[in-house]
Amino acid sequence: LAQLYGPLNSLGYIYRSINQSLVDTEKLMKLLDEHTDVNDKPDAKELVVEDGEIEFDNVTFSYDEGRSTALNSVSFKVPKGSKVALVGESGSGKSTVLRLLYRFYDLKEGNGRILIDGKDIRDVTQSSLRKAIGVVPQDSVLFNASISYNIGYGKFGASEEDIEAAAKAAQMHDRILTFPDGYDTKVGERGVRLSGGEKQRVAIARTLLKNPPILLLDEATSALDTTTEREIQVALENLVHGRSSLSIAHRLSTIASADIILVLKDGQIVESGSHSELLELNGIFASMWAKQITAEKHTDVGSTKEVAT
Ligand code: ATP
Repeated sequence: LAQLYGPLNSLGYIYRSINQSLVDTEKLMKLLDEHTDVNDKPDAKELVVEDGEIEFDNVTFSYDEGRSTALNSVSFKVPKGSKVALVGESGSGKSTVLRLLYRFYDLKEGNGRILIDGKDIRDVTQSSLRKAIGVVPQDSVLFNASISYNIGYGKFGASEEDIEAAAKAAQMHDRILTFPDGYDTKVGERGVRLSGGEKQRVAIARTLLKNPPILLLDEATSALDTTTEREIQVALENLVHGRSSLSIAHRLSTIASADIILVLKDGQIVESGSHSELLELNGIFASMWAKQITAEKHTDVGSTKEVAT
């Protein structure tokens, strides 16, 4: 997953970062290494998103010719403004769905289509596509700069008021006020170190400022302490509201509110429906759910602490 989020988190930001000369050079070089081989067509148009409806139409994809397929005839829709969650065991194809939507790879002719508002994403410019998509990874890249800069990064020329409003909606404002210099406090490797949950809230604040119609989310893998978990949930609800989103859910408890849950297995959608529909179906999702409930009962989630990284 890190392979996806390194570049996803950074590509949209690289151009401005260079201009503002505040980026950690070492990190930038690493990110530029992870370029993609996707090229815009000579007649590529700007993507204009009106509804933000996403459609995977019979998508088949393999990373290497002749190797097993990572996705096999996958079809689904994310209707305007709805929340779709992807679940499935490791290697089932969840990240591949997000990578393809962000266009790290193009589908070959005859292997299906990915559409946004009815437009094939291979026919639009990568820059306009990525401008329309916000990404919230589990672990965001922080720059060695002020917390204000790190949040304001989401929108060129963001005012202090914009930044504070985003931090409030992302449930990060009160925490920032405890820092020695408030919004001017330096964070990152050479400043105040933020925990995983705090970094995720910074990413949420950035994305709120970016204000994209489409969201890709990677929800936390491990249990956070209850307060942090609740804060992130509220922040995510503020972000997801009114946008079309695709989330990778590692812990099934976080996606009970999804409009549609897609269950992936070996690159195929094997079940889909709402949480209650899938429980009623009593199939793969229901057994994953039962297993996780039992596992969580045996874990003292309340005492789990976030690890500062
Ligand atoms: P996880 O929950 O562990 O992140 P996932 O459901 O997101 O897993 P994917 O990362 O989409 O799964 O992987 C789907 C399949 O594609 C797997 O068989 C995986 O080994 C393969 N795969 C993923 N990335 C690459 C890559 N860069 N090159 C070759 N094969 C890959």
